Amino acid sequence: MSDVRCEMSDVRKNAPRVVALAICHNGKMTDSTPRRRGNVFAPVGEELHTCPCCGHRTLNQRGAYEICIECGWEDDGQDDHDSLAVRGGPNGQLSLTIARTQYVARGGTPEPHTPPARPA
Ligand SMILES: [Zn+2]
Repeated sequence: MSDVRCEMSDVRKNAPRVVALAICHNGKMTDSTPRRRGNVFAPVGEELHTCPCCGHRTLNQRGAYEICIECGWEDDGQDDHDSLAVRGGPNGQLSLTIARTQYVARGGTPEPHTPPARPA
């Protein structure tokens, strides 16, 4: 059995990118992008936080495993800093990037999202 690997150069060669990334999501994806680890946390505030997947204001806090009622993403603290990572946590084999793509494919309308804090 050989490792299934996907280099970023292959992604560029074999566009479309989303399809290439989906193929790569076997946990063996390798590329030259350094991955910062950590989770985005933010406490309950005056306003709801935007969901990192769909961007709708649905979350009381960040990094607290709330499930977004708009898109179904479970907020384990993943955000833009590691959106390509398949964490294998509550969102299973979905990276945040793929979950965003699937949300749109289901007819969802994403709203702007900015992480409320740096990953810690
Ligand atoms: Zn959402």
